Amino acid sequence: TCRYGSGTDNTTHNVESTRGILEMLGIGKERLRWATFLPEDADGLLRFLQNFQKDVQVLGKNPVIPPVAGSHAPSHPRPPSVLDEPARKLLAEHDIYACQECGKCSSACPITLVGKPFSPRAMAGRIIASGMSDPAVDADIWSCLTCGLCHDRCPSAIDFPEFIRELRALESPGGSVGHEAHGGFFQSLMRTMTSPDLRLRHWDWLPDDVRTDPDSKILFFGGCAPYFDIFFRQHLGVQTSDILVDSLRLLNFFDITPAILTDERCCGHDLLWSGDRENFRKLARLNVDAIAALGVEEVVTACPECFRTLGHDYREQGVEPPFRVTHLYELLEREIDKGAIAFEPMGERLTFQDPCR
Ligand code: SF4
Ligand code: SF4
Ligand code: SF4
Repeated sequence: TCRYGSGTDNTTHNVESTRGILEMLGIGKERLRWATFLPEDADGLLRFLQNFQKDVQVLGKNPVIPPVAGSHAPSHPRPPSVLDEPARKLLAEHDIYACQECGKCSSACPITLVGKPFSPRAMAGRIIASGMSDPAVDADIWSCLTCGLCHDRCPSAIDFPEFIRELRALESPGGSVGHEAHGGFFQSLMRTMTSPDLRLRHWDWLPDDVRTDPDSKILFFGGCAPYFDIFFRQHLGVQTSDILVDSLRLLNFFDITPAILTDERCCGHDLLWSGDRENFRKLARLNVDAIAALGVEEVVTACPECFRTLGHDYREQGVEPPFRVTHLYELLEREIDKGAIAFEPMGERLTFQDPCR
């Protein structure tokens, strides 16, 4: 366990979040475990690993086909950078080779603590191993806050902020390119979902009072809210899945019992907008085929991005949906116009603005 306090909590949270995502993806949370062993308990560690290996063998082959990272995958190994030689000098000048890989810097670094794929220790290792041509190095250099917490903790007195400042002087700010939001987590998630053999469990968490009907001609498409919640809950306290539950309850209120797609995949919005059309089209085809197989005539969504993606971008990218796409508000307006519900006058005119798309 972590002697600085936060490491154990962060690990517990990150492991549980990742297990939740593996379960929802249908890959199985049993494929990831966390356990702690004291240095003298080598036998315990060995027993744990042997049991874990047996259990994973029983689970069988991972159904995920390693996805092609679309336009993001470098097609050729990168040539050495002209900055490698000056960077090597900086490594020596700042005594980075004295790093003992103890991890104390990473356990203090605020960027690491908010869950970014960044750690000063890993960055030093990358520069030593790959030089300045590694794209991750470029991202790391511009992610550091130069706060100095790592320097305070480092038993080798490595002055990271100073090192980073020198590295930045080597690069122009224009060299920092291609940063996907949240470390590209959602793009990776979507690429994972392009594996056709995945049996996702997108809706397992729905409360019992919500009524759905697999034979309905109306399908409710939820989108990535459940993944958002797992990814952002610890730091932002979000509960966006409530939007899905409340939307379904509204439909039920209007006597609509919609179908849901148990293995719903993300609509692919973020892939399209970050330029990965190949994987976007794969997702579009999988979603359209799965919805069409249910004989659905109308897809209702509460998410503006899903609304645009399913109703407009799929067709534009060559995947024709054999159903119409309706935003929840349009459907509610339809029901209200039918006289299904009445409101008390407010005495003023209001405009609702949905901020997305
Ligand atoms: S100086 Fe940079 S690497 Fe060090 S703790 Fe602060 S943000 Fe992290
Ligand atoms: S604290 Fe210092 S010695 Fe330990 S991993 Fe970080 S840079 Fe290396
Ligand atoms: S416009 Fe705002 S609310 Fe909509 S997706 Fe972007 S950040 Fe979210």
